[in-house]
Amino acid sequence: MKKIISTITGALFLFAISLPTSIAKSAEFFSIGTGGPTGVYFQVGNAICKMVAKIQSADHGRKKGTAKALRCSAPSTGGSTYNIGQIMQGELQFGVAQSDWQYHAYNGTRPDKVKPFNGLRAVFSAHPEPFQIITRKGSKIKDWNSLKGKKVNIGNPGSGQRGTFEVLMEAHGVDTGYFGSTSELTSSEQSGALCDKKIDAFGYTVGVPNAGVAQSTDGCGASIINLNTDAVKKLVADNPFYAFATIPKGTYKTSKKDVTTFGVMASVVTSEAVSEDLVYAVVKAVFENLDDFKKQHPAFANLDPAKMIVDGLSAPLHPGAVKYYKEKGLM
Ligand code: GLU
Repeated sequence: MKKIISTITGALFLFAISLPTSIAKSAEFFSIGTGGPTGVYFQVGNAICKMVAKIQSADHGRKKGTAKALRCSAPSTGGSTYNIGQIMQGELQFGVAQSDWQYHAYNGTRPDKVKPFNGLRAVFSAHPEPFQIITRKGSKIKDWNSLKGKKVNIGNPGSGQRGTFEVLMEAHGVDTGYFGSTSELTSSEQSGALCDKKIDAFGYTVGVPNAGVAQSTDGCGASIINLNTDAVKKLVADNPFYAFATIPKGTYKTSKKDVTTFGVMASVVTSEAVSEDLVYAVVKAVFENLDDFKKQHPAFANLDPAKMIVDGLSAPLHPGAVKYYKEKGLM
């Protein structure tokens, strides 16, 4: 028995000393919550991880100001409000979130839709995200009014589009009863359901272009409707986080004309509990490799540092981000 125990102890000792020191002692693991695997948030999170890995490998994981080797992951999640909730609980260190839900979480103004969290901190904003209603070819849906009685996917709970769709219903003075039926499919399920005629339309707040939307526009002739009713105009006029947005003609095979709708910004957020060093290192990795970052997805093509540190940010900037922006003369 004694022999077995000493053999096990010896094996454990050998295992421990054989671990690379960066993993055994000083690696810092962190996660960025994204959205569905076919969305643009997934690309944002993974592009950030790629830039962090790039800067780390250039410095052998030992960059000045960053004592630890950083190990970044960007899993697929339910989306904006899910990410904010998980950041609040310390399960995620960063997340991508729509600017409307960032605003409401920080200010506690829609506790029915996103958990109030005044420890939420902004890092930077990424691409614009128009709210889009995509309709099935043959559904005869041309505008908001003709959605009445149709089978509509309003998005999974936890997604940004779910909350924004509910706000849009409220703005028009209706609830889910306005539609023939509603479903809660995720962003990666909705295009397939539309092409299979299980639904007539779905709502999605997402960057342009997006492979998930293309699956239904280019794949089965779906189109995006204009959303410029008086109710939408009032939403844009009354709320700082909404703006009118255009989806240019030619974006998808069925985009014969520009589409007018309203939208938000995609923003990267964190918690005040996350260390200044970590936020600084992440921001530095992205801003120092911005040209490479922009190439990771066409929706990032127009990213401009001066706008990224202002647009769509209603929670205060995290001190680690402020430190970097000041050093670089951006603030
Ligand atoms: N805006 C969506 C959300 O907040 C996600 C869009 C995407 O995955 O790109 O859930």
